[in-house]
Amino acid sequence: MQPQIAPSKNSYKVAVIGAGASGLVAARELRREDHQVVVFERNNRIGGVWVYDRTIESDPLSIDPSRTIVHTSLYDSLRTNLPREAMGFRDYPFVAKDGKQRDTRRFPGHKEVLHYLEDFTSEFKLSELIRFETEVVHVGLVEEEAEGKWIVRSRGKNIIVEDEEVYDAVVVCNGHNTKPCVAEIPGIDVWPGKQLHSHNYRVPELFSNKVVVLIGSSMSAVDISREIARVAKEVHISSRSVTNKLLTNHFDFNYLWLHSMVKSAHEDGSVVFEDGSSVTADVILHCTGYTYDFPFLDSCSIVNVDDNRVGPLYKHVFPPQLAPSISFIGIPWKVVPFPLYELQSKWVAHILSGKVSLPSQENMMSDVQAFYSKFEADGGPKRYTHNVVDYQFEYYDCLAAQCGVPLPEEWRNQMLFATMMRLVAQPETYRDEWEDENLILQAHEDFAQYIP
Ligand code: FAD
Repeated sequence: MQPQIAPSKNSYKVAVIGAGASGLVAARELRREDHQVVVFERNNRIGGVWVYDRTIESDPLSIDPSRTIVHTSLYDSLRTNLPREAMGFRDYPFVAKDGKQRDTRRFPGHKEVLHYLEDFTSEFKLSELIRFETEVVHVGLVEEEAEGKWIVRSRGKNIIVEDEEVYDAVVVCNGHNTKPCVAEIPGIDVWPGKQLHSHNYRVPELFSNKVVVLIGSSMSAVDISREIARVAKEVHISSRSVTNKLLTNHFDFNYLWLHSMVKSAHEDGSVVFEDGSSVTADVILHCTGYTYDFPFLDSCSIVNVDDNRVGPLYKHVFPPQLAPSISFIGIPWKVVPFPLYELQSKWVAHILSGKVSLPSQENMMSDVQAFYSKFEADGGPKRYTHNVVDYQFEYYDCLAAQCGVPLPEEWRNQMLFATMMRLVAQPETYRDEWEDENLILQAHEDFAQYIP
């Protein structure tokens, strides 16, 4: 991608779906480029997943289509897995603030992240752009329009009649940590125990004295298994990678075992693993991640979710055939989310305003196909298409170069690396013991330009 920064020429009417971290920063960047922005948010406040809710869904596996959806997937004890210096937006640092409600720790609890997003909203006067308690129920192309305008239908809380408006562009920021993926287990229908997905995990008490099989090896799986190991009778972690250091370093806990994948479950309560071992369990906890979901989107089958690949998307943002009138913020995972959303949003806002150009539709499509081919040749499973961990820094640099803003700070990259090393070496203490003081200093020197 070659940057071509030109003067701004377009001002579009843009619908942003969602007022979580990605929708908020998208709204700010779009308004900075003089677009007219409306943010639709079905909750009554900003923050998305960071709005902790003790309520869980009526179906603990979140499969029943008639359930009421609870958006958040946070558990009560959650602290960030990134240090605040690296986690915050680039030009609105996530620095510790004094105040009764504030959490000044370097890896704060979830409430502090919500406070930070509220501060961000207030600083940039974003509330005036947001329609709260308004759910987008349909986004579809205006048929007679060659230019690709969009019909957006939305519905207010307790209001049956839908509102219909036409927008020049739609920026999808609805999050992707709400619709669970659940492991398929032969025999599960006759297995008598209880199952739940980590989306519905809040506190460990439910697991007191229980034998638990926890499937997964993500950061949430690590946190949750450590937490329930304090109250459960036994915790058996089932992971694709039994040599995963994040998990093997767990073994300072009693009653915690590591197994291969679950092979089957049986009527007598046993759960059998692929290595031949088995356990009689009370609960299976699926920490198996989430799937992308755009229930409101009618793109005439141009954009699809297939095995957790949203595609085709040029650079994980624009569907070539519909670009730039619809874009997706926040699709990549294994990233530093907030700065990534900021860069993607700047790119979208600059492209809509005409400051930066996209390649032709054919060239974008060729780029996507080349990416898929290489990804598959490297043995990447389709469901990992948006896992950008191996090239995240190049990806950030590419977006920054497109927008003509400085490349992401070197201290941020190094801090991320130092955090990952600590997480693996000392999962219990990585949030409270560190040695990267020099990087913290560099971060604060950098922040001085943004903090009055
Ligand atoms: P969300 O926060 O999910 O926001 C989406 C918004 O869209 C919601 O407010 C929702 O109500 C709204 N919405 C959805 N559909 C509609 C609709 N049809 N109409 C109107 N509104 C709609 N990130 C970090 O940086 N650090 C961490 O430590 C960290 N820990 C995490 C721990 C857990 C357990 C999870 C699940 C995630 C964690 N994350 C962390 C990632 C986190 O998801 C992102 O940081 C980020 O907050 C996601 O923001 P988002 O705006 O993309 O999505």
